[in-house]
Amino acid sequence: MKRMLFTPGPTEIPTEVLASQSRPIMHHRTDEYRSIFREQTRLLQEFLATTQPVLTLTASGSGAMEAALVNILSPGDEIIAVEGGKFGERWGKIAEAYGLTVHRVTVAYGRVATPEEVESAIAAHPKAKALFLTHSETSTGALFPVHEMAKVARAKGLLTIADTVTSYGVYDLRFDTSDLDGVVWGSQKGMMIPPGLGYVCYGPRAWAAAEKARLPKFYFNLTKARASLEKGDTPFTPAISLVIAAHAAASMQAAEGRENVFARHERNAEATRAAVRSLGLPLFAEVPTNAVTAIAVPAGVDGGAVVKTMEHRYGVKIAGGQGSLKGKIFRLGHIGHYDAGDILRLVGAFESALSDHGHRVEPGTAVRTAQESLRRATAPAGVA
Ligand SMILES: *Cc1c(COP(=O)(O)O)cnc(C)c1O
Repeated sequence: MKRMLFTPGPTEIPTEVLASQSRPIMHHRTDEYRSIFREQTRLLQEFLATTQPVLTLTASGSGAMEAALVNILSPGDEIIAVEGGKFGERWGKIAEAYGLTVHRVTVAYGRVATPEEVESAIAAHPKAKALFLTHSETSTGALFPVHEMAKVARAKGLLTIADTVTSYGVYDLRFDTSDLDGVVWGSQKGMMIPPGLGYVCYGPRAWAAAEKARLPKFYFNLTKARASLEKGDTPFTPAISLVIAAHAAASMQAAEGRENVFARHERNAEATRAAVRSLGLPLFAEVPTNAVTAIAVPAGVDGGAVVKTMEHRYGVKIAGGQGSLKGKIFRLGHIGHYDAGDILRLVGAFESALSDHGHRVEPGTAVRTAQESLRRATAPAGVA
């Protein structure tokens, strides 16, 4: 059976990227590799709208999170972490693993915190040095107002680091004109390549903090990574084939044009949400991200069975809930390499599997709604 991933990581990989993986291995201490690595880095900077170095780490996204945290803090430091899902909670866990004191702004799963709540937390914990955020909370499908939160934190002298793992490639982050001091992401989401690379980009304030930071680090020493990058190198053996994949994928995104990439994600997400609503199902997130659509499992339907049927009967792999949300939500991923036809396949399979498991709707409802949404969004001038 032909299968497609509609999971919020890993995501579908374009044929052009797969083809880039079929050549013999190249050595990394060569001019040929260095030029690919440099060009990859330049394309990522362009996408992030930054002149700051983008550091490529051989690690998943969580490794990039750990690196971004340990390089700006010292033993005894306090931080504020905003939590409304599994990924937001990860920041606090990493900080505690290094013995730091964590003050949490916690909201219920599916909800988003506000800049005012962040402001109160900063007032209550004046010793906190940094704020850690999640932009697109993949576990609940919620989009947090990280730019507004970062603005509040900067005004109070805190650094802000955001997990943009599922917003990189989906939203225009405009790093250099934002109040964010650091962003991290991974390879298997909006970058359209397999898992295995983590990325960190720091702004000038985070680099200044890195000079004084004393938490232990060896593999994830970002100051060393930055010095190597200046020579087109990495301190350790890079995941050569993944960097080649990243170069191929970033070239595709550059050819499509960054604005077009973000607009396509918006269109696909909007069509998916419209289709879900037409099935009479509520969205789980109060403010939904364009990366993943989370949906509450309707009463009387076995959520796990729907996910399995979608995969095995319809060839469409989606995700269920994680942790305490297991069996309670569906997550339809549309991050990266998806077009209008893919979205129709996704919502068609979703509707069919729901019908198979007792949530009966008039056949074609979801597809028709998504089709209308996509047709309206892409109508050429003069076409009704
Ligand atoms: C996928 C993801 C991560 C990173 O997870 P890894 O499994 O370490 O790649 C972190 N944050 C968010 C929001 C994610 O979606």
